[in-house]
Amino acid sequence: MRACVITQFNRPWELQQLPEPRPAAGQVVVRIHASGLCGTDVHVHHGKFPVRVPLVAGHEPVGEVVELGAGVTTLQRGDRVGVCWTQKGCGRCRSCQEGRSTYCQEQQSWMNLGGGNAELMLAWAEGCTLLPDGLSYEEAAPIFCAGYTVFSGLRNADPRPGDRVAVLGIGGLGHLAVQYAAALGLEVIAVTSTDGKRVEARQLGASETLVVRQHVGEELMALGGVDVILSTTNSAAQVGQALIGLRPEGRLVNMGLVDGPIPVDPFALLMGQRRLIGSLQDERRDLVEALALVAAGKVKPRLELYPLDQANAARDRLETGKVRYRAVLQHAR
Ligand SMILES: [Zn+2]
Ligand SMILES: [Zn+2]
Repeated sequence: MRACVITQFNRPWELQQLPEPRPAAGQVVVRIHASGLCGTDVHVHHGKFPVRVPLVAGHEPVGEVVELGAGVTTLQRGDRVGVCWTQKGCGRCRSCQEGRSTYCQEQQSWMNLGGGNAELMLAWAEGCTLLPDGLSYEEAAPIFCAGYTVFSGLRNADPRPGDRVAVLGIGGLGHLAVQYAAALGLEVIAVTSTDGKRVEARQLGASETLVVRQHVGEELMALGGVDVILSTTNSAAQVGQALIGLRPEGRLVNMGLVDGPIPVDPFALLMGQRRLIGSLQDERRDLVEALALVAAGKVKPRLELYPLDQANAARDRLETGKVRYRAVLQHAR
């Protein structure tokens, strides 16, 4: 099978022919139709993420189940599925016993079995989620990391009717966060440093766009402040500044791996009882709901599509901030 392999960090990914994977007990083989590129892949490319090479990346993989390992009873050949980052826990630790394998120290992910930038991908059956009927593979792919992450973030922010939400950073995650918050009936302010995204943010459902000039927190306050900030930026400084843009009891949900310690104003945190929250892809129901909203046409990922052999060019565009808004690798059928 054809696969896009990371052989060394900071070197172009190589298209190689690899042996076809065979499923062990509890695993399936998925014929990949689409595989989204995520900011994390850029960190992986530069060796800033704890993985060993050679490795096939791709943690937004969707496709068709083509082979079942022994004991797989929940999936059938021909099922349309996507594969989550966290596929399976050890089953025995405290987190796994509580049904929260996200926190398992021995969780299995694309880093163990290989990701979706290949014709065929091995996955644990319990890491697969069925795609709603009518949802295309291309639109489903970005939901398995970007969409899932922001939908969990939104739920972890505990939004109330009438809340005002700011989305910090309008990229692969942020363009979906704006749409999900708007789809839930919340007032959304899109926050960006790019003037050119002003019009597009409105089209995505933002009622207002803030193009940051100097201090995002002060500029949000000048607009009356917000109850929730969904932060997708990687700038720790900007996350720290944003905190003071929260109204009292506001929640800032940080969903990105920021570039250093977040500077927090102790007065803003204490006096307003504001909260700074870390959020990952959380409960699987967040993913199912996020997929359903795309299938219903209420949220529409904006995509750039590339064939697998252009993965390097697509990743370079992502790294330089040019992608509008999610790059998805398409695989030959
Ligand atoms: Zn990701
Ligand atoms: Zn465990």
